[in-house]
Amino acid sequence: ERKREQGFLYTPELGERFHENEALVHQMHQSIQDGFNGFYVVYQPIIDTDKTVMGCEALMRWTVPGFGAIPPARFIPLAEENGYIRFLGKWVLYQALNQIRLWRETHGTDFFMSVNLSTVQLESPEILSDIETALTTLELPGEVLHLEITESSVMENPVEITSRLRAIRELGVKIMVDDFGTGYSNLNYLHQFPVDTLKIAKEFIDVYPADGGARELVRAIQGLAESFGFNTLAEGIERQEQFDALKTSGVHFIQGYIFSPPIDPAEFEEKYLM
Ligand code: C2E
Ligand code: CA
Ligand code: CA
Repeated sequence: ERKREQGFLYTPELGERFHENEALVHQMHQSIQDGFNGFYVVYQPIIDTDKTVMGCEALMRWTVPGFGAIPPARFIPLAEENGYIRFLGKWVLYQALNQIRLWRETHGTDFFMSVNLSTVQLESPEILSDIETALTTLELPGEVLHLEITESSVMENPVEITSRLRAIRELGVKIMVDDFGTGYSNLNYLHQFPVDTLKIAKEFIDVYPADGGARELVRAIQGLAESFGFNTLAEGIERQEQFDALKTSGVHFIQGYIFSPPIDPAEFEEKYLM
């Protein structure tokens, strides 16, 4: 077989991927220089178990001429590798906060805006002043902003990241642990980490409630959250039986296609703010 002869270090697929990545990074640089041309933000509602919208998550999108829509799972890791995530992350923060400010002004909206924070951003000491400046400039109370971080980004440098998160939290900003349960599963840190909400990983939700392991996990996370005073959020909910079982188990917030996919701001406004 040809592929085997070529060895496992190089395959034509890998070569293509490499060139495509190079081209994408080049495009990314171009787009950012062009004032983030091709980048936009969509918003997915986060509801409580009575289906009241409590907030939304800002999710980045990128369309490149000649490539089409590039999924975040593809371009975010690239942006993290080459450092562009610092620019993109700050841009998303301002887009999202601008949006919620506008909705507060025009509709009296008082729900939260959740923004994903990459490990790379959290490792930079400037993140604190970036957030503080954004909130002050837009005259928004810190409580409006929720930041989604991953367990692993905290565990990489627990002392420094914890104290940085504490300082961010002193602005009123809430901290959510994204994909909870998939990371280090180091329960040790939970009682000392500045956290408000555990976001239960979609991979458990996918097999929930049929899978006994997933049921135990949700129950354990819920118990943990209750004893430490955290909220819980389940994401990726697509089916009614998931919703019902999560409601019964006491999960606070729900996010998923069952209610709405991420949508553009105009649609969000029409559906949930009018
Ligand atoms: P995530 O933060 O875990 O975001 C949840 C993902 O699940 C989103 O994918 C969302 O569209 C999708 N989703 C929500 N509900 C459902 C559902 O019911 N079913 C299914 N199948 N999927 C659902 P998306 O937008 O493609 O984002 C993928 C990942 O890319 C995010 O995972 C996050 O890690 C990253 N990402 C996206 N936007 C940003 C951003 O602005 N900054 C950073 N740092 N990362 C981002
Ligand atoms: Ca997230
Ligand atoms: Ca997640």
